[in-house]
Amino acid sequence: MRVFLTFIAAILFYGPYAQTYAIIADRLIDGKTDKALDNPVVIVYKNKIVDINFSNKIPDSATVINLKGYTILPGLMDVHTHLLADGLDYNKDLYENSPSLRALRAVKHLSIALQNGFTTLRDVCSEGAGFADVDLRKAIDSGYIDGPRLFVSGPGIAATGNYVPYPGLQNWEIQLPTGTQYASGQDECIKTIRGQISHGVNWIKLYADWFYPTFNYDEIKAIIDEAKKHKINVEAHATSKEGIRMAIQAGARSIEHGDEFDDSLIQLALANHVYWSPTISVYEYFNYPLDTAYKYLNRAYKQKLKIVLGTDIGSYPWANNEVKELEYYVKKAGLTPMDAIKTATVNPAELLGKQNQLGQIQKGFLADIIAVKGNPLDDITLLQHVGFVMKEGKVYKR
Ligand SMILES: [Zn+2]
Repeated sequence: MRVFLTFIAAILFYGPYAQTYAIIADRLIDGKTDKALDNPVVIVYKNKIVDINFSNKIPDSATVINLKGYTILPGLMDVHTHLLADGLDYNKDLYENSPSLRALRAVKHLSIALQNGFTTLRDVCSEGAGFADVDLRKAIDSGYIDGPRLFVSGPGIAATGNYVPYPGLQNWEIQLPTGTQYASGQDECIKTIRGQISHGVNWIKLYADWFYPTFNYDEIKAIIDEAKKHKINVEAHATSKEGIRMAIQAGARSIEHGDEFDDSLIQLALANHVYWSPTISVYEYFNYPLDTAYKYLNRAYKQKLKIVLGTDIGSYPWANNEVKELEYYVKKAGLTPMDAIKTATVNPAELLGKQNQLGQIQKGFLADIIAVKGNPLDDITLLQHVGFVMKEGKVYKR
């Protein structure tokens, strides 16, 4: 009985995360320092990193997590995902599968991402599943299901008729569901954004173009201005030069895809502190010609444009590891492994406005920590085999 009471007292005193962990490893990539640091000891208490030392100091109260032979890094982030899609039959999702079914399926996608080392995702359009992504975020925050921390965009907004089903293929007689919310004219755009924010999105997904420019500049500006009033940022799907230009000039925070991101647009993005999420993975998956994309990406990198890992997973099947994106950055776009890692850690943390909490292994930061065997600075593909995952001090993979 006394043992039991002591146990209850401990829970009351320390809460459910009372555990102190001491994580020891061969090396640390902390997200800030430009080289790996040898023999780290990272102390985690509750959901935070409370200390880091390199002199093997381990508090008596700590449970040791021995990751000798491993490199520890900040939890990874993907800023372009579609949790409510599975990359297979889009029409079946739109016309047959309910948002509830799709949300239940997304629980599996969340688990895959977390097990692969992704502790944060920005989901950028529910693809016709309404605000089911807001519910996924709530379910994770409430502890009903496990998953990465989510930033979600709900249904997204596109110019009337310019999304899926494709223009010219829409049934004129029956009002069928669409992959995004449509709007035209500044008033309707503003009303749509207010509605989406009222339903709990924390980002807006704007389709600034759809193969070619669709919204006019005034509409794009109205959407972004309205979102900003509510302190919500906008990620802009833009593949054409004109789409990219309008999105940046109107105040979008990140450009998604950015196929035609030439030198003048790179300069414009730099001047406006805009991030680029190139989604190479989806293009590689569907064998799109990528010579120009890699050329632009390399030039953007050399000019120090902030690249953020975005894959578009969900537009292709979740069975593919999102972190393969980093292999493309290193092997085909010329990023150093350390800079590639930053596209999945410090850069997206900044984009998400969480640069003081996420994306680094530093004292006071949330304890999102992953580990891989060996040194990913020697071989970036090692990150495709994450062996340890901790999110906010809780271990999800060991
Ligand atoms: Zn996408």
